[in-house]
Amino acid sequence: MEYGIHWFRRDLRVAGNPALQANWKANQGKVLGLFCFDKKFLSREDFSYNRFQFFLETLVSLRDELKKAGGDLLFMDIGPETSFESLFEKLKAAGKPLPNLVSWNRDYEPFARKRDETMSQWFKSHGISVVTERDHCLIEPHEIFKGEVPTSAYQVYSPFSRKWMEFLKTPGVRARVESQKKGLLYLNAFMKEGAPQNLFSLTWKSLLKEEDLADVLGAYQEKNLKKVTIAIPANGAGTALSRVREFKKAIRSYGKDRDIPSIDGTSKLSQFFKNGSLTGAQVIAELDLDRPGKLSEGEEKFLKEIIWREFYYHILWHFPQVETQAFLEKFRTLKWENNESYFKAWKQGLTGYPFVDAGMRQLAKTGWMHNRVRMVVASFLTKDLLIDWKWGEKYFMETLLDGDLAPNNGGWQWAASTGCDPQPYFRIFNPYLQSKKFDPDGSYIREFVPELKGLSAKNIHEPGLNRPTNYPAPIVEHSVQREKALKMYGAKP
Ligand SMILES: Cc1cc2nc3c(=O)[nH]c(=O)nc-3n(C[C@H](O)[C@H](O)[C@H](O)COP(=O)(O)OP(=O)(O)OC[C@H]3O[C@@H](n4cnc5c(N)ncnc54)[C@H](O)[C@@H]3O)c2cc1C
Repeated sequence: MEYGIHWFRRDLRVAGNPALQANWKANQGKVLGLFCFDKKFLSREDFSYNRFQFFLETLVSLRDELKKAGGDLLFMDIGPETSFESLFEKLKAAGKPLPNLVSWNRDYEPFARKRDETMSQWFKSHGISVVTERDHCLIEPHEIFKGEVPTSAYQVYSPFSRKWMEFLKTPGVRARVESQKKGLLYLNAFMKEGAPQNLFSLTWKSLLKEEDLADVLGAYQEKNLKKVTIAIPANGAGTALSRVREFKKAIRSYGKDRDIPSIDGTSKLSQFFKNGSLTGAQVIAELDLDRPGKLSEGEEKFLKEIIWREFYYHILWHFPQVETQAFLEKFRTLKWENNESYFKAWKQGLTGYPFVDAGMRQLAKTGWMHNRVRMVVASFLTKDLLIDWKWGEKYFMETLLDGDLAPNNGGWQWAASTGCDPQPYFRIFNPYLQSKKFDPDGSYIREFVPELKGLSAKNIHEPGLNRPTNYPAPIVEHSVQREKALKMYGAKP
């Protein structure tokens, strides 16, 4: 009997999953899913119980969907190298054949690239074919380069995005979007009628012994749930597509609404992109953003954000060192003050700067923070509190449901002026002015900082003498810290 295994990682969906599809075609529906819990990930210092819970719940939905379609998903409690080794032993012990093909969608993080290279070699040494596909980015990081030289990576967003837009119009890339339109038809039918019962035609039960089928996923869920601190949002490909459709109604005004945190004006899709319940290609397909002719202002702006995401993957792929250090060499030895009590106040939303505190409390309460506010709190941590951006980057990873190495690292290095195409170091956000401009009536602050509910729109941004006693005074003075920051950055050649 010939069959394949699809190794799920951050592509947690059936519809329009390119590597799963390739395996499915090669094996006429005899494909089994596998997910390996990797201790190297689970013991990371920036691990997030909340994000992991969202991930686990997405896995439950995926397993249910596969089962309803006649397929299956097995969970192994060890890293991929040992998982496959142990699985193959079990198959041999049960007198069953090994798969002829293992498939996965490519991952661009430095750790994952090394792992996948090792695994490719390992499968080949066992005589098993491997098929990998592009999925996470519409245009892969190595596909775009300056001029004719494949090694010449972009370091500035604008020319990168122009080249990306040119690529989007090429037949090859349009075909990628088109194929996602077919995937969405499947998903649509799945949402209305449920999974087609015989899409897959093999289960793990038919290959392994009962004792090899322990409920690993359930055990993780039970353990992790105790540590969860927020309400975990609905998950899965269907939920993500419904969100895209809801956002479709708002996209025309995205250009003007996207900077106002009190308005539900952004797509809130990032958490789905993170684990692959949805991809940029699918969103472009659903919103028809690759159509010829001019897009509306909102559509254009939104597409540009999708490109920012792909830009940061491009940077991480070509300059993997950004994971641990500043992109700009001259800013690798900045003398941060790293005051622990300031850091604590920032995390708790108790800095005495209402807009910053509202953002930090939104993050702690919901696992998400509006992009404008992310920029402001990141600037505040680095340039007002003079704390190393890596501390903020780590805290975001611990708390964000969409925490994702490439855009998180890119966002932090942009705000701290240490990255590629950064905010210049001398451009320092004034948290009071940002607050007045982007939350003019103070409703965002009121939602997350209830102590300030009673203040007028005029006083809420900078309460001063109107500060209620249960709200802290500013822990630092912006104008003083600004000068210190300029000195710190300027002291570098
Ligand atoms: C300091 C900092 C840290 C960040 N950390 C992360 C992170 O860990 N994970 C993450 O996905 N995004 C991160 N971002 C980018 C951005 O804030 C979020 O992607 C966005 O707020 C998600 O909300 P949304 O889906 O409603 O965005 P929308 O405005 O609807 O944008 C659509 C999509 O475009 C992408 N996008 C939007 N803005 C950016 C951006 N500035 N950079 C890269 N991609 C973008 C996201 O994938 C987003 O889902 C960070 C930004 C900053 C300034």
